[in-house]
Amino acid sequence: MRRHRTTARGVLFLVATIGVAVGAAAAFAANKVPEHIVFPVVGRVQYTDDFGAPRPGGPHQGNDIIAAKKSPAVAAEAGKVKYWTTSRSAGCMLYLYGESGTNYYYIHLNNDVTMTNDNRGKCVKGTAYAVKNGAKVAAGQQIAYVGDSGDADGRSAHLHFEVHPGGGKAVSPYPYLQKAYKLLFTAKAGTPFALALTGTVVSATIDRLVMNVATSQAWPSALMLTKLNRTIALGVPETALLQSVGPTGAPRTVTSLTLAQKGDRVVVWTQPAPATLKAERGDDDVLSAALIQLD
Ligand SMILES: [Zn+2]
Repeated sequence: MRRHRTTARGVLFLVATIGVAVGAAAAFAANKVPEHIVFPVVGRVQYTDDFGAPRPGGPHQGNDIIAAKKSPAVAAEAGKVKYWTTSRSAGCMLYLYGESGTNYYYIHLNNDVTMTNDNRGKCVKGTAYAVKNGAKVAAGQQIAYVGDSGDADGRSAHLHFEVHPGGGKAVSPYPYLQKAYKLLFTAKAGTPFALALTGTVVSATIDRLVMNVATSQAWPSALMLTKLNRTIALGVPETALLQSVGPTGAPRTVTSLTLAQKGDRVVVWTQPAPATLKAERGDDDVLSAALIQLD
């Protein structure tokens, strides 16, 4: 009997140990930055690894991502948004408490009503923010607008972006930005979208088109991205319309996509579909063509 009890206690102890180990592993995993975050700005950007660079207030705690004023700032991962409006140097700012346990800071959000530096806007939804204070957001969801508030006033609009693993000290966002997924558009998950993609043919089979995309325009947001140079594979259903534009400019029906040659200029209108993160990222074979126009 004694042996039995010991064994039972041993098992209990083992279970408890495994439980603690699993718990610790989960806590550790929860403090890791996801390998691929969503790039926090949609559109054309410029940034360098300026983390730690000397600044008047001390070493720079993030990377400055230069972008057009009012560019969409999107959630690097799923999480919860908290406004911060009382820092003179940060201006309009938000915290994104990521589900991984990482906190992201979005600083110098927009405070202009027009496209000039009028400083007439407040740190409110519609000007600085795209969601309510406290909102739970999905990865890639627009949460704010890039701007020049705080001590960025009068400089180029940029997002000062910080990464705090486990809610601790800031680390350089640069390696995460380099590996981040850049979005073609941003829309609330499940809402309908369509894209017009302009570029050149990489390869084409009867039901699949691989193209190098130069320009993307999204509906309904009308967000236009240029100089993309991104290769995207689209599904081509039987119902997709194929056209070529002849020398007269009049569209002619093309019998097969396989006639397309590498390097041919092509415009694709995608099938209207509900927005997903995969579609926003332009993952292979997620977007589907509705109309293909070959030059
Ligand atoms: Zn900065």
